[in-house]
Amino acid sequence: MSFPKTGQSWPALKAKMTAMRRDDVDWRNGRAPLHIYFAGTDVSDVVCDAYTMFMCENALSPAAFPSLARMEREVVNAAIHLFNGPPTASGSITSGGTESIILAMKAARDSVPAAGRERGRRSEVVLADTAHPAFDKAAQLLGIDVVRVAAGADYRADPQAMQNAITQRTILMVASAPSLPFGLIDRVEEIAEVARRHDIWLHVDACLGGYIAPFAIELGYPMPRFDFSIPGVCSISADLHKFGYAAKGASTLLFRSAAGDGPASFKFSNWPKGGYDTPTLLGTRSGGAIAASWAVMHYLGAEGYLGLVERVMKLRERYVHGIVGIPELRLIVPPDLSIIAYTSDALDIAAVGDRMAGRGWYVSRIARPRGLHKTINLIHEPIVERYLSDLESSVAEVKLHSLVGADVEVTCY
Ligand SMILES: *Cc1c(COP(=O)(O)O)cnc(C)c1O
Repeated sequence: MSFPKTGQSWPALKAKMTAMRRDDVDWRNGRAPLHIYFAGTDVSDVVCDAYTMFMCENALSPAAFPSLARMEREVVNAAIHLFNGPPTASGSITSGGTESIILAMKAARDSVPAAGRERGRRSEVVLADTAHPAFDKAAQLLGIDVVRVAAGADYRADPQAMQNAITQRTILMVASAPSLPFGLIDRVEEIAEVARRHDIWLHVDACLGGYIAPFAIELGYPMPRFDFSIPGVCSISADLHKFGYAAKGASTLLFRSAAGDGPASFKFSNWPKGGYDTPTLLGTRSGGAIAASWAVMHYLGAEGYLGLVERVMKLRERYVHGIVGIPELRLIVPPDLSIIAYTSDALDIAAVGDRMAGRGWYVSRIARPRGLHKTINLIHEPIVERYLSDLESSVAEVKLHSLVGADVEVTCY
């Protein structure tokens, strides 16, 4: 592959790119159990228009693009309101959950005076084994050690076990709202109590649930609270590009309080060009992602999100009803939101996954315990019956031929 010598026409290139797409998961027809968050073509049209309107603009410079600075401020303030933040709360739009988590951990590392660090030792973060790998990635970058503690029998983080893992070096604890594997919101109030007692920063990872859970709670679905109304919650990450339905490349990172210009920011002036200040990890930042986030939030409003969440939760019930209606299958745990995890005591669930893959479904698996996983959103609405009948046929085949699936310890995301 050499650098393209001559240019080609856009129609020719577009045809090639369409061909390249042939083997991608057919998400438009509901075949993707994760990665895609869809709220209707009207919403995606708004996102697309807003993104392209500001595609060339760079949020690195609020002086050049006050429009983007304003949109970011308004999205952040709306998020602070949604998560019951105090008047001191502050935040930024980042490129995604991973960046939000890196910066939350950096803020914790640089503001908590751990006894251990004063003696030049590495700091530690204590989290449940259900927490996202982004914390380990961030820890690697920041020189922090990760202590993963087994979740409780209910698959939620175990506050007592987390407390037992605290040492003099612990600077940070994490709660998920919800965790990706099981879709359950941790008992944040209890974890926050432990964190406060030990003077430890608590980050709530609401990357997945941040823009669905508050509305589900408002609709009366029971689940633990997880936001700034709980004393001890220091920071929250919530991805706009998941159930916020924004374009990929947008997450909100929120802090209970802002010391100076924000605990995650960077300031520099020791080069010929003078001052260079950034609130987040990135330099150049996509104007498109910020504009699309602002547009979708204002297009839907709380009423729009409530209506979507109601439909998604009803759709979840259809999936759950169909899955538990197959005698060989059971939920690993009843879901808080629209993320479901199921398994089988009667046959190898991994083999069921293989049979589903054979039927054209992209399969999201759980390694421990072996299970199948689904992040349900409206893209799955037209195809729920097809999924369930394929699932029934797959179970029947695995049962008939006593099929065994491949080792799923290594999950292909
Ligand atoms: C998606 C996700 C992340 C990471 O976010 P990215 O946007 O993929 O970087 C972190 N935590 C949870 C629970 C998630 O679902």
